[in-house]
Amino acid sequence: MDYGGKSLNNATSGKSGTALRLWGALLIGAGVMAGGAAAASPAAADAVVQHRADCPPEVGHGGGHGGGHEGGEQPRRDSHGHLTAEEAAAYERELRDALRDQQGPQTQDSQQEPTVAVAVHIVHAEDGTGDLADSTVKDQIAVLGKAFGGGFSGVDTGFGFRLAEIDRTANDAWFQDFQAHESEIKAELRQGGAATLNLYITNMGEGILGQATFPQDYEDDPQNDGVVVDYRTVPGGGREGFDLGYTAVHEVGHWLGLFHTFQNGCTDPGDYVDDTPYEAERSSGCPEGRDTCPDRPGDDPVHNFMDYSDDRCLNNFTAGQDRRMDEHWTAFRAEQARDQQDPRQSPDPLLRR
Ligand SMILES: [Zn+2]
Repeated sequence: MDYGGKSLNNATSGKSGTALRLWGALLIGAGVMAGGAAAASPAAADAVVQHRADCPPEVGHGGGHGGGHEGGEQPRRDSHGHLTAEEAAAYERELRDALRDQQGPQTQDSQQEPTVAVAVHIVHAEDGTGDLADSTVKDQIAVLGKAFGGGFSGVDTGFGFRLAEIDRTANDAWFQDFQAHESEIKAELRQGGAATLNLYITNMGEGILGQATFPQDYEDDPQNDGVVVDYRTVPGGGREGFDLGYTAVHEVGHWLGLFHTFQNGCTDPGDYVDDTPYEAERSSGCPEGRDTCPDRPGDDPVHNFMDYSDDRCLNNFTAGQDRRMDEHWTAFRAEQARDQQDPRQSPDPLLRR
């Protein structure tokens, strides 16, 4: 693959020189922690400021969004690593090329979406901080299923999720700085192939809620593939405003190929999804009725899982997003799964390890 996007992205995301990937990471504004999510970490409010200052330069390249006009006091999810228009276009080209190479644009919604095997990796502190109960993990998987099944609102995407395994690792160094140990952690823990969702639950620090890789990234860096969420974002996890488990939903949306609803702002082609209204910038809180692209139809999709509203505000994926996830699955994950498994029926590479 020789897309310009590859080198372009490598240039901007010098992170261990690995393949193209999206840090669909979420950053919380300082205001979030002020209210009392601090249950798990008393020094949270200070740490927010510190971690924001520490944001590595490569994730700040989205520009524009770090500024001061996103409205006020409301706590917000902030962005690390928005894709530039060129990066998003490179991903799109890669998607179209892959689909064309396979058998043309055949990805209809009639296609059978899989029940995705989920390998959950809990990386917790040696004193037990961050070590979640099995029941909590199951709650998180259930939230994924409900969200992608249209159980809150929106469409049933057809994607299901099945807990394949939970492993637990007590390691203070890993827990204290996941990003610094990411390669090591994933080399140690990752399971399965392209069709297996590896969900790492750990401490992401005070500013970031989660991150994900894109399906397009798999081929060049399979070991890195997966989703990472902060342990306080799981259902009942205590992160104020963000503990219904929807961070995982959002990140899995990226893992299945979706961009943010505010990708490209009011400019074509937006997020490459027809039925999500254009949106100039991320949402925060729950700004119902907001319309940041008044020349475009529709209010901002602030209830969409791929926006940045508080968990309580999010409730849907659209039919267009469903189609796009199907396309990505077909292009990058289903094929890989078939390659790696004997009969294409078995959706669970884990069983073969
Ligand atoms: Zn994101």
